[in-house]
Amino acid sequence: TVSVVLFTSDLRLHDHPPLKGALEETEEVVPLFVRDPAVDRAGFAAPNRLAFLADCLVDLDRSLRERGGRLVVRTGDTVAETIAVVRQAQADEVHVAAGYTTFAQRREERLRQVLEADGCRLYVHDAVTTAVPPGDVTPQGSDHYAVFTPYYRRWAAQPLRAPYPAPRAVRVPPAVRSEEIPVRASVRAVSEGLAAGGESAARKRLTSWLSRHADAYQEGHDDLAGDATSRLSPYLHFGALSPVEAVHRARVRGGPGAEAFVRQLCWRDFHGQVLAARPETAAQDYRSRHDHWRRGADARADLQAWREGRTGYPIVDAAMRQLAHEGWMHNRGRMIAASFLTKTLYIDWREGARHFLGLLVDGDIANNQLNWQWVAGTGTDTRPNRVLNPVRQALRYDPEGRYVHRWVPELAGLKAPAVHEPWNLAGFDRALYDYPEPVVDLADGLARFRHAREGA
Ligand code: FAD
Repeated sequence: TVSVVLFTSDLRLHDHPPLKGALEETEEVVPLFVRDPAVDRAGFAAPNRLAFLADCLVDLDRSLRERGGRLVVRTGDTVAETIAVVRQAQADEVHVAAGYTTFAQRREERLRQVLEADGCRLYVHDAVTTAVPPGDVTPQGSDHYAVFTPYYRRWAAQPLRAPYPAPRAVRVPPAVRSEEIPVRASVRAVSEGLAAGGESAARKRLTSWLSRHADAYQEGHDDLAGDATSRLSPYLHFGALSPVEAVHRARVRGGPGAEAFVRQLCWRDFHGQVLAARPETAAQDYRSRHDHWRRGADARADLQAWREGRTGYPIVDAAMRQLAHEGWMHNRGRMIAASFLTKTLYIDWREGARHFLGLLVDGDIANNQLNWQWVAGTGTDTRPNRVLNPVRQALRYDPEGRYVHRWVPELAGLKAPAVHEPWNLAGFDRALYDYPEPVVDLADGLARFRHAREGA
């Protein structure tokens, strides 16, 4: 007997419930990945993510080959391609992980209908995108938690299954054809400093980060120049690393740093359960608070300066340039840049979220849109009117100015703390640096924000 395992947001062999299920049931499996243009059209495809995806597929194929198998890649509508492969392989069953996006749920429904008509069974396994599936932990009287801390308490108390090992051997029927696996080099406009994708890279990073850096995480996770966070977000996004395994391994490691890391992983699940319950929050305010964002030519010019990392606020510009160069940004940088756009410039969070999604290798709807809303004060933050002052943030999280020096080299000659406020330099000194004047005065930005929020 033969089964087809449809890989989606789970590009790995370790801790893969559908693959495990299929191998228990059938002698041969077809590991299938479908490049579906509908996914690209829905705005999920950005060059950095396509390049990282290519790495993940190449790595998955390599790991399968080491076990006697191979990856089958097809391009087209997922349902049509799956059924074509089912027929070619004469498969009796298809295994897939449950999905929580509207897109994934529709795909599953269509797949079930088409397969049933062909006499083929569809097995939908545990969700693999979060450690605790959305909806498993709910408060009384609601379908999701709106506040993080009580969610975290319940989440942390949930029993978590042990991660499944990778299979030792995979036999793929020879008759099933595959397209060539896409490679990173085929993708254009990729950020120069983009990390390498794939399960092998993810596992190496998890192991080395836990052993070398986890202990310093609690104190160091906000240090912009220290860059001490795990950088596992893109691997988690593509499922090259299982969140169940990440939590499990961190708990085995133990200690306050590993615990703080697990708490961050819980934020992924938190946003996942909000989006699953309120899919419209991908585009609409979670709390419908206000819609007085600045629009018009001035706002558009400010938005463009923000995108290009030339707002005249070195810490904001450093963060935006890191994003452009690496397709990734430090979490503290994301908070500062997002707060600056939505609260100091008073520009709609959707504009910022769109720009981030165009570049972030870990960019996903739940974590991007809902973090943006959190910072903008339209989401789940219990203090929606807090404003991050970029200068104070810079002095605190980049005290030596090393992060700014790295990403804004035109200010490299200026020491901290002066580097965080170049507009304070006297005329002659100021002229030495080819760096823009601030797009807005902080006090003016804050006054505008207060006025708009009070009037809302
Ligand atoms: P670590 O500090 O090592 O944390 C471990 C893991 O916990 C991360 O890999 C990530 O999966 C998870 N995590 C940490 N913080 C958060 C958080 N606030 N929300 C959700 N998960 C978290 N994260 C994304 O994965 N995709 C996004 O599109 C995204 N967009 C963001 C947009 C804004 C405006 C902000 C403020 C944050 C965004 N984040 C997003 C969350 C966070 O910035 C990244 O997950 C984190 O920087 C990834 O780096 P890391 O893997 O080194 O994190």
